[in-house]
Amino acid sequence: MSDTSTLPETETLREKARACLGRIGATVVEGIGLSARSPITGDELFTIRPTSAAEADAAVVAAHHAFQAWRSTPAPRRGELVRRLGELLREHHADLAELITIEVGKIRSEAMGEVQEMIDICDFAVGLSRQLYGRTIASERPGHRLAETWHPLGVVGVISAFNFPAAVWSWNTAIALVCGDTVVWKPSELTPLTAIAADALLRRAAAEVGAPHEVHHLVIGDRAAGEKLVDDHRIALVSATGSTRMGREVGPRVAARFGRSLLELGGNNAAIVTPSADLDLVVQGVVFAAAGTTGQRCTTLRRLIVHTSVADELLERLVAAYTRLPIGDPFDERTLVGPLITTAAQDTMQDALDRAQAEGGKLLVGGGRRFANQPGAGAYVEPAIVRMSEQTPVVREETFAPILYCLPYETFDAAIALHNDVPQGLSSSIFTRDQQEAELFLSAEGSDCGIANVNLGTSGAEIGGAFGGEKETGGGRESGSDAWRAYMRRSTSTVNYAAELTLAQNVSF
Ligand code: NAD
Repeated sequence: MSDTSTLPETETLREKARACLGRIGATVVEGIGLSARSPITGDELFTIRPTSAAEADAAVVAAHHAFQAWRSTPAPRRGELVRRLGELLREHHADLAELITIEVGKIRSEAMGEVQEMIDICDFAVGLSRQLYGRTIASERPGHRLAETWHPLGVVGVISAFNFPAAVWSWNTAIALVCGDTVVWKPSELTPLTAIAADALLRRAAAEVGAPHEVHHLVIGDRAAGEKLVDDHRIALVSATGSTRMGREVGPRVAARFGRSLLELGGNNAAIVTPSADLDLVVQGVVFAAAGTTGQRCTTLRRLIVHTSVADELLERLVAAYTRLPIGDPFDERTLVGPLITTAAQDTMQDALDRAQAEGGKLLVGGGRRFANQPGAGAYVEPAIVRMSEQTPVVREETFAPILYCLPYETFDAAIALHNDVPQGLSSSIFTRDQQEAELFLSAEGSDCGIANVNLGTSGAEIGGAFGGEKETGGGRESGSDAWRAYMRRSTSTVNYAAELTLAQNVSF
């Protein structure tokens, strides 16, 4: 693996961030409290004053108040706000992507891709604003009409993770706004700059189309700020994206007050490689899914379940591909692997590698640190492949770093059993040219995940489908398809247009 370049200076990143924020029209309130860092150098760029408890409370009150009018604004007019947001995102595509690279360390094309996803969901939501359909159902009674109507839900509290600092917000916010809800957003404490920029674009969009800016509020803070939203009965839906640890706390707390939660939590995604697989496709798909975003996608490929007949050849090719991966400054066009988010994440990766080897694994490639002795360098790691003979405890956990565990299998049934034998259920894939295997993988007895792919990797979903996963991934669905229903409440109504009253189930009274 090669280092692409020397790393930029912190001052250069600070200037770049200032310039992007300036072009977007976003203001950073500097003050004591939250440290905005760049993983590229590991250094602080700004200290930001977090939202106070009183301000956060006022934001919820204002969002609740704004909801009373927003819910009655016709949905296609609500869509105009989202359409303008999409236009502003197109205009500031590169600026927002640059902030994402500075704050998260994503390589440029992935950061641009994240903003593209935001534009796509805005387009989707604008279309949706004219398609919030309910059903008409055949009534069992004569002269009766039975129908479902979807109404706005209320204030949506969005809690988001560091690794998709803007896209996850847009999946929730674009849909929630056209559904007639208002939003209070608590972004990750690791990515306040991107959040301030996204919020500024939405405010601008609101001003330009004459929508009330109170439909959206930003609460900058740590986990305690998130907990306030979780416990606030004025928040109808808490959409929380992050670790399973977080979801385990958030889910029961929201349920205790009979609120709704939409949980998008950790994954432990696997790909099955069968004897008929096209190995060229596998190598390309696996390297992107496992090492892309430095292993910091919820859909990152973490387990490769390979038929013993192709394991040696595939591993040899993957090791060769990993050896050529350019690691370094994510602004350098040649780089494919940027830094991990923090040095703590690097320690977690090292700890998992130690455990994997203690549990019988053989490290085939990677695992080392890069720029380790260079002052002003963030947490750069070599993506690793570990050959395991069985699915040991460390393999069954999500380690948010680029470690790919390879597991052999002999029979197709054993591969599926291994695949599903983890607590998480987000994304999955199979590489095969055998149609029967592909169909079995997608069937009820196949992958138990929310996302199941054939002949592509586990990451890089499109916004058109519903996104989310089962088991400890939380069961939530966001983004496309009919995921919008989570942001609305359903009202079933029966109208009697007959002259008499008929009771259901032939009851006479
Ligand atoms: P994290 O759980 O540390 O934090 C996520 C967010 O939750 C942050 O905003 C944090 O402040 C907040 N938070 C933490 N504890 C909370 C609590 N008790 N109450 C309220 N808010 C709380 O996650 P992270 O490190 O930022 O992100 C990485 C994790 O997110 C990985 O596990 C990854 O798989 C997951 N993720 C999942 C999806 C998905 O769609 N399934 C998408 C992106 C990331």
